[in-house]
Amino acid sequence: MKNILLRFLNILTVPVLLITLSCSTNQNKNSEFGLVIHGGAGNIIKGSLTPEQEKEYETKLQEALETGYKILIAGGSSIDAVEKVINILEDSPLFNAGKGAVFTANGINELDASIMDGRTLNAGAAARLTHVKNPISLVRKIMDISEHVMLVGEGAEIFAEQNEIKLVDSSYFFTEKRWNDLQKIQIEKKAINKDQANFNSYNPDYKFGTVGCTALDKNGNLAAGTSTGGMTNKKFGRVGDSPIIGAGTYANNNSCAVSATGHGEFFIRGTIAHDISALIEYKGMSLNDAADEVINKKLSSMGGTGGIIAIDKKGNIAMPFNTAGMFRAFVLDDGKFVVKIYKE
Ligand code: ASP
Repeated sequence: MKNILLRFLNILTVPVLLITLSCSTNQNKNSEFGLVIHGGAGNIIKGSLTPEQEKEYETKLQEALETGYKILIAGGSSIDAVEKVINILEDSPLFNAGKGAVFTANGINELDASIMDGRTLNAGAAARLTHVKNPISLVRKIMDISEHVMLVGEGAEIFAEQNEIKLVDSSYFFTEKRWNDLQKIQIEKKAINKDQANFNSYNPDYKFGTVGCTALDKNGNLAAGTSTGGMTNKKFGRVGDSPIIGAGTYANNNSCAVSATGHGEFFIRGTIAHDISALIEYKGMSLNDAADEVINKKLSSMGGTGGIIAIDKKGNIAMPFNTAGMFRAFVLDDGKFVVKIYKE
């Protein structure tokens, strides 16, 4: 009798368990797919942009989001969404990436970028590009077809030429605003006589303008990418965090996808993007807690400024920053587009 009862209970337990499991999986999934983007963090205080400028930024971020949303809702891959979204931001002079990149101390534009596929942990990166129109497309190619992860300078551009990545004359990257920024910084620097490392702590106007995108697709694959001109007045072949996998960009299907913007030296030393992923993967932290720990505690205590955007495998998102503002936007499977600039 006891045996029959136990067998009966066993038969009941299996479906009950399955129902409970599937309910909790659905409950835990915040969104089937999603996209988060940034256009740089910095001293972006309310009132520092005119309403027209605000509108310009918002419109471009919205356009980028819509492009990525269309790819994801149609079942496209997160890596395709990341590349296409960043292409739009690179082509806009509003951001410090592609057209609109900042100038080095020598008055040229040197571009850096990286991309990572969370499904394969494959990655592509490039630094010190002076002729590649869309650095994110070059790093995608490096990831997809080369046996390497990171190419720099002339070699990277030879690879670009051989693989039909669009090259432009370096004058393409010129914008008057970025040129004037360089003149202003060089004059201020002479007057204050501080070095580049301290630059953004004494320049209240400093805005980073790097662009980044993280995405989760319907197949549960995560991807991240970042593209930048680096920091105004950078010297000696300086390369920041944006092309460094684990610092400015990271993606892993077991945890999350991250893209950073800020004072790159701190992001490199703090391995910021990978730290967030590691807290989730090894410690089981939520995305929100992991991102808060790394940006608001670790980065801030190091004296670094900037922020990140991230999305995890369940479609949770995080966008912490310790500067006054960060151009940021997201869309999830509910199709609601959210664009923000200032701290709330
Ligand atoms: N992180 C970039 C760098 O240090 C700058 C930025 O985010 O705007 O090169």
